[in-house]
Formats: sequence, structure tokens, C-alpha cells
Amino acid sequence: MSNRIRPYAWGSRTALAELLGEPTPSAHPQAELWIGAHPGDPSRLVGSGSSAGSAPQSLVDRIAGDPAGQLGSEAVDQFGTRLPFLLKVLAAAEPLSLQAHPTMEQAKAGFAAEERAGIDINAAGRNYKDASHKPELICALTEFHALCGFRDPQQTVQLLAELGCPELERYLGLLSGQPDENGTRALFSSIISMPSAALDPLLDAVLAACVRRVKDGSEFSAEYRTTLELGERYPGDPGVLAALLMNRVTLQPDQALYLGAGNLHAYLSGTGVEIMANSDNVLRGGLTPKHVDVPELMRVLDFSVGPVPVINPVPDGPGVWRYPTPAKEFALSKLLPDDAPDGVLLDHSGPQVVLVTAGTAQLHGAAAAPLTVPKGRTAWIPADESGVRITGAATVFLATDGL
Ligand SMILES: [Zn+2]
Repeated sequence: MSNRIRPYAWGSRTALAELLGEPTPSAHPQAELWIGAHPGDPSRLVGSGSSAGSAPQSLVDRIAGDPAGQLGSEAVDQFGTRLPFLLKVLAAAEPLSLQAHPTMEQAKAGFAAEERAGIDINAAGRNYKDASHKPELICALTEFHALCGFRDPQQTVQLLAELGCPELERYLGLLSGQPDENGTRALFSSIISMPSAALDPLLDAVLAACVRRVKDGSEFSAEYRTTLELGERYPGDPGVLAALLMNRVTLQPDQALYLGAGNLHAYLSGTGVEIMANSDNVLRGGLTPKHVDVPELMRVLDFSVGPVPVINPVPDGPGVWRYPTPAKEFALSKLLPDDAPDGVLLDHSGPQVVLVTAGTAQLHGAAAAPLTVPKGRTAWIPADESGVRITGAATVFLATDGL
């Protein structure tokens, strides 16, 4: 496959170039490598199989020409005639926006309502680009930092109180008076909809308090430091204050984070393999110059208290580590083919995408010669190509549907 890179300003100038074996630093930020059949930037098929010697073909066109053969009848029955997932390598040098994704029901209703209202699909104020939910899983390739979900309100009360910031008192009262889901909702809601005249002086006071606490040393130093970094990057943005209510998470390589509907999150820095349902439905809550629709965000947000959804890979046969999630649209596994005596058989009956992140892998399929897939490269295995085996001293990510 030949894949496109999205050059968003928060992207790294080294991570994707290094993965792809290109000179570093790259001339422009490289944020996301898109691997799949999203109409915005579909992968193209080059080289092997039926397209050998012919011009590269968009994966969108390949699938449209034979949905059942490419995706398998089960996936077509469940998700229609498009690839249900999008795989990415994401390389963040700077924080991404604070965001959440809708449930399937919210997406269907929101999309229908915006269509009825005649809002252009590309309009800046458009929330729902399609009628699908967008669960996502990010698996760390390097140490990876993120904000994910709301912290236990009792702890947030402690964290805010420790700032010793008088300007924050009345807001802190919203949470200390009811340290639960409702208190979190009330406090977040007042932060996110605060007019600049109130927000700007409050932000100044909170950031000054963060500087003092980081200097003195505090059990919340990492959280305060993150707030300072966000304040520098997004002056006057309510997301800087909202970040104080959220879990600050550090993933070690191979650990993953599952982001279900309603989970407020922001990636801060690091490189990871990301897989998601093939949707573009994002409701932003700040840390962005883009459109923020507060009422719609409040409707989809989940304020419940629960553990941070860190997923550790579980062994699933020789050389195979699976990331268990409830998503039906996708499944992600990490393969170490050399750890299995005969490599790993890729016997899933739906669409399969192979991404090599270290070493070199060989794919043994129907063709006489194996296909060599070096680091940074990817391969598409259609549903009707059964019995492909992968070997080699390589680290490989395997993306399939979750059926
Ligand atoms: Zn997201």
C-alpha cells in the first residue's frame, strides 16, 4: 500500500520520517499516516497481486469493485460496502484538541438534524460529518502522554485546593459541595462556557499558582506542569482549565488507551498506532482554534467516574498479542512472527491490514514469491485471500474488523 501523510501543525518532524526511512527532520510537521480507505486520503495499492505492473489503484475503488471479495460478506452485512476501520500512525509533538465522540444513536440523530437544517458538510460549524460513532484505540510506540476522562472528583477537589488560588474558590465550591458526576458536570460546564472577561483573569491566577506549586514540589506537579504547557500553547482557551479536571495518563510502549463514546480526551505527545471506526465525528471542547459547540459537547460527554481505560495486550497464541476492546468495527493485534515456529497465520475472514513498525516481514500467500514488507510499510490482504502466513524478525500490527 502507498499511504498519505496529514501535515497537521502539531505533528512531529522526526517520528514518521524515521519510521518510513526518510531524512529527518522532515521539511514540514508530519502528524498522521493514514492507512485505509477513508475518502479524504485513501491508501493506494501498488505492486503485488492482481495489480502487478499496473497503475496504483485507490483502496476505495478496489473495494467498490468487489465489496464481498475485499471485505467479506460478514463485514458487508454489518457495515455496508466500505472498510469499517481506519488505521493511522499518529506522531504528536504538541497537544491535539480536547475532544469527544458521539454514540451511534447521537451520531445518527445529529447527522440527520444537520442534513435537515441544510448545513454544508464542509462548513466550519458542522458537527456530524457522517452517521457513525467513532470509538478509537491508541497503542503507544513510544512513551505517550494524554488527557483521558474526568478524574475522581474527590482527587480533583484536592488538586484544585492545593493550588491555593483564591480566584478559584467559588468554582471549587461547585465540586467540593457535590464531589460526584453532577459536580463535575457543573464545574466543567461553567469553565467551558465562561466569557473571556471572567476566564482571562482566572486563567492568569491559576497559571501563576501552578508555577508556584511546581516550584515547591507537589504530588500533582505533572498535572500542574501540563496545565502550564497548555496555557502557553493555547492562551485564553477554556480547555487549559478543563484539563485540570482530567486524568493525565502516561502510556508505556505497547500499552493502549480505548476511547469510547463520550470520553473527553486530548493527546499530548508521543507516537502511536491508532485504529478507529471510519468516521469523522469529533466534538471539540477546547485547545483548538476550530469550532467548539458547547451545548452539543455537553450532550455527548460522559462525566461518570471510572478507571482510566488503559488496555494491556493479552497473549492470543504464539507470537500474537491482542488488544481487547468492545468495538465491532476494528480489532488490533501486535504480531512477533519470529516468536512462533512457523510464523503467524492470518486467518481472519474479513479485511486485514498489516503494518510493520520494526524489522522486515514476509507475507506468504497465493503468489509464488513471498511479499517483503519492511519497516514503515503496509500491506492489504483482501477477505478472499485466505491462508496468508507472516514470518520474519519484525514487529507487526494487524488491523481487522472486530467481527
Ligand atoms: Zn478522539
